[in-house]
Amino acid sequence: PPSIRKISERHDKVFVTGCVEPAVEKPRANAVFVVLARNKELDGVVQSIKSIERHFNRWFHYPYVFLNDGEFNSTFKETVQNYTSAPVEFGKIKPEDWGYPDWVDKSAARESIAKQGDQAIMYGGMESYHHMCRFYSGMFYKHELLQKYKWYWRLEPDIKYFCDITYDPFIKMEEANKIYGFTIAVKELRETVPNIFRYASAYKRLNNITSQGLWEMFVQKPATDEFGVAAEPKPRPWVPENIMKPDPKAEEEPEGNTETMEGEDYNMCHFWSNFEIARLDWFRSKEYTDFFDMMDHSGGFWTERWGDAPIHSLAAGVLLPVSAIHYFRDFGYRHTTIQHCPANAPSRQLPRPRYLDPMTQNTRLRIEEDHYWEMYDREKENGVGCRCR
Ligand code: GDP
Ligand code: MN
Repeated sequence: PPSIRKISERHDKVFVTGCVEPAVEKPRANAVFVVLARNKELDGVVQSIKSIERHFNRWFHYPYVFLNDGEFNSTFKETVQNYTSAPVEFGKIKPEDWGYPDWVDKSAARESIAKQGDQAIMYGGMESYHHMCRFYSGMFYKHELLQKYKWYWRLEPDIKYFCDITYDPFIKMEEANKIYGFTIAVKELRETVPNIFRYASAYKRLNNITSQGLWEMFVQKPATDEFGVAAEPKPRPWVPENIMKPDPKAEEEPEGNTETMEGEDYNMCHFWSNFEIARLDWFRSKEYTDFFDMMDHSGGFWTERWGDAPIHSLAAGVLLPVSAIHYFRDFGYRHTTIQHCPANAPSRQLPRPRYLDPMTQNTRLRIEEDHYWEMYDREKENGVGCRCR
């Protein structure tokens, strides 16, 4: 079979090289920016809006929807609106879309979360973070304010775009039949998702889904014996920690529901979902919601600290062909300690911490210190992206 690299080269190219004149008069896509945030994150939100407005939305005027499990206060709402001329809506998340579903035993779930805190699993002991991850995995696209939209672009507080985005990525994705776009792929912390792959792979097997190539991006090749022969995959059952309320009506779990294939394991790769341009109608599809429901009912959002990033990624791996994925290699983007800067080609210039991008087999930059950032920010404009500044 062709390697991921060959497939992605064949199907996925940068949409536009360099800067173009923004097509301000062209029709827009049915698309929206989505920002989940709390009032206390206002400064970070303002930074993010300033950045996306300056580098993209001052030409394109896509609307924003802000979501919160609590109420946004008037300072938040007024301040946000000062930084964009685009339409802005604020939504409250319904209690049933945030927090514990009624089939979960809350005290058992809380106990499990506390245990993850004791084990110093990143965000593992933080109940609200578990809620957030589940919301972004299986709930956000159902919000009433998003029903009218087909596409979304996720923004977070404290992000920075540093290249001008002079074309409309939604329109380009639509023209190219893309469903999901990313700009950074990284490895997840294994202890946050020890059993996520068993479920994703069980979903794939139980539904007789054959890989369309993307799945392989997430699979650790099985270890081989001394003769270089991989172990024959065999089903391996798994009994999860039980946080479900006993359901008297429930039938006995079908045997082997959560089996995974011995030898197939998750390589921890995922699209970093704090940036995402994707089709909302894909998330709303029966296939995606079935996938989410199965993952959800395993209890892994509580017994482990599954992020929405590996959930989205593994869902894409199960359900989408490689050709539906777009790598926005031309977007300069940074969130906290990780960035992708296309025009500056930093990994070739200095010995730096880097990692292998599984989509392209390119080595990519992992920022550890701010001064690297400063250095590369002023580099030349010879990459695929528009001006970096
Ligand atoms: P990190 O990027 O993984 O470190 O996580 P963040 O703290 O940035 O959270 C991811 C996103 O969810 C951001 O947009 C946050 O504003 C948002 N978020 C996280 N927790 C909550 C919460 O309890 N309530 C609300 N409304 N938003 C949250
Ligand atoms: Mn964040």
